[in-house]
Amino acid sequence: MIGLIAATAAGAAASERLAAAWPDETRAYPGPVRDAVTRAFAECDRLVCFLATGAVVRLVAPLLDDKATDPGIVCVDEAQQHAVALLGGHAGGANELAERVADTLGCRPVITTATDVTGVPGLDTLGLPVEGAVAAVGRAVLDGIPVHLDAHHIHPLPALPPNVQSTTDSHDPAANFTLRVSDLQGGSRTKADRTAVLRPPSLVVGVGASRGVATAEVLGLVRATLADHGLSPLSIARLATVDAKADEPGLIEAARVLGVPLVTHPADALAAVDVPNPSPAPLAAVGTPSVCEAAALIENGSELLVPKRKSTPATGGDATGPAMCTVAVARRRPRGRLALVGLGPGARDLLTPRARDELRRASVVVGLDQYVDQIRDLLRPGTRLVVSGLGAEEERARAAVAEARSGHAVALIGSGDAGVYAMASPALAEAGDDIDVVGVPGVTAALAAGALLGAPLGHDHVSISLSDLHTPWEVIERRVRAAAESDLVVTFYNPRSRGRDWQLPKALGILAEHRAPAATPVGVVHAASRPDQWHTVTTLAELDPATVDMVTVVVVGNTATRTVAGRMVTPRGYRWQR
Ligand code: SAH
Repeated sequence: MIGLIAATAAGAAASERLAAAWPDETRAYPGPVRDAVTRAFAECDRLVCFLATGAVVRLVAPLLDDKATDPGIVCVDEAQQHAVALLGGHAGGANELAERVADTLGCRPVITTATDVTGVPGLDTLGLPVEGAVAAVGRAVLDGIPVHLDAHHIHPLPALPPNVQSTTDSHDPAANFTLRVSDLQGGSRTKADRTAVLRPPSLVVGVGASRGVATAEVLGLVRATLADHGLSPLSIARLATVDAKADEPGLIEAARVLGVPLVTHPADALAAVDVPNPSPAPLAAVGTPSVCEAAALIENGSELLVPKRKSTPATGGDATGPAMCTVAVARRRPRGRLALVGLGPGARDLLTPRARDELRRASVVVGLDQYVDQIRDLLRPGTRLVVSGLGAEEERARAAVAEARSGHAVALIGSGDAGVYAMASPALAEAGDDIDVVGVPGVTAALAAGALLGAPLGHDHVSISLSDLHTPWEVIERRVRAAAESDLVVTFYNPRSRGRDWQLPKALGILAEHRAPAATPVGVVHAASRPDQWHTVTTLAELDPATVDMVTVVVVGNTATRTVAGRMVTPRGYRWQR
């Protein structure tokens, strides 16, 4: 719950706006502010105070207890220009809340926690759970002190600054900070105050269960098994079982409590996995000789850490009845991560927040030099760039996939949407199921152009690339003809370049056979959202192809498209009139 505290009329008005925007998350605390702050501090996990920072500091000072449990506090000034994350930036969620408040009230977030403002990752922003001496090691990372990165594999982590190295000079007295990436508990006790441990999602816990198994029996067995083998529960990637148990309440609830997905597999897929301890009972019941071991091991390259083990009274099993649950634990190979990130048509504010997050999530960025230049300032320090010039698309795609396959977090970037006449298809044609793939949609040129022209895409429409470098012209021509015959609005990508100048007139000629040239609006948009942007609305009869180049899209209306007040408008179907 977010507590809202205001003292003035302006503060109260802003507080009401937040309450209206987030009705289920907020509670207003009216009355004298000292009292209101005290109650909200006790009852809420976050506070927004429409008060001066100084006033809030004095009010909460006597209430402060522990960074891990104190609520996060955001202060908003009287003029609503700033939302200041005052207290509990990370653990208390104040940084994130300040961003949300700023979005809603239209003011600026003020974040001062060191790791967020310098672009160096806080250890708690690396996408993995972290334990141990987080503050000390985080500080060392930030201060540029050598930190030993202790990892047996490459993990898909964001870029780390250059002082975090897997090889450090052991004679350097400062080099005794360690950042370990491991699913194992323990390790050397001597350096416990200088070691932080990131928990990779490396453990797959296979579970077999009888109908009606109790959640406590599943959780007890899972926890005891991991503890007995020195494995961290924070490294559980998922619980895995057979399809027939997909709706078993005790398993569903156990997965929920552990905060991991419950993944199920068909019995025949499990039966095909080679396991050390097959048995006839599950074969009769669900059609595979092994559930827990097979479900743990099903991913290629997995290694069995703990063979099948049954619940007992000591692990939370029923003292009177038979064991209801079995588990086995496997370690899977770290999986690299390939993000296909569309940067939008050019302008920074048309780059989506998710694309921005993915760029900061990567340690390797692959793309054309001009696109890398566009977002270089958004990358974490230490991000490795694999930059190439025009052409060589397949090589670029292969390079990105190879980096992901070796375990890195890779962002393959492109303009507009990464899947539209772009790198996503060559990359995915190459990628196997041994890497994780994340697609981030981008604003494609047709949409950026449509918004400038008016509403040309208001009814059925198609995009056609006029580049015959990779597609035979006959195929392109056949598609243009089909679009012409079916009266589709057409957006031409790659319309014309110095070496390819006859294709656009030819395509327009085909469209003109089916729509009246002088009455058909055509929009030309050059460099949408970039500094040299221009656009114009003309007609099929009037368009001068010489104005069109490779940074342009041409949008040809259909027989219903009209020009209204200089804007292209294609009516929606339900008002269709010819
Ligand atoms: N993936 C990109 C398209 C790549 S094909 C996207 O989704 O937008 C390259 C073609 O896209 C260019 O020849 C041009 O026709 C078009 N294009 C890309 N960006 C553009 C922009 N900002 N303005 C106009 N056209 C653009």
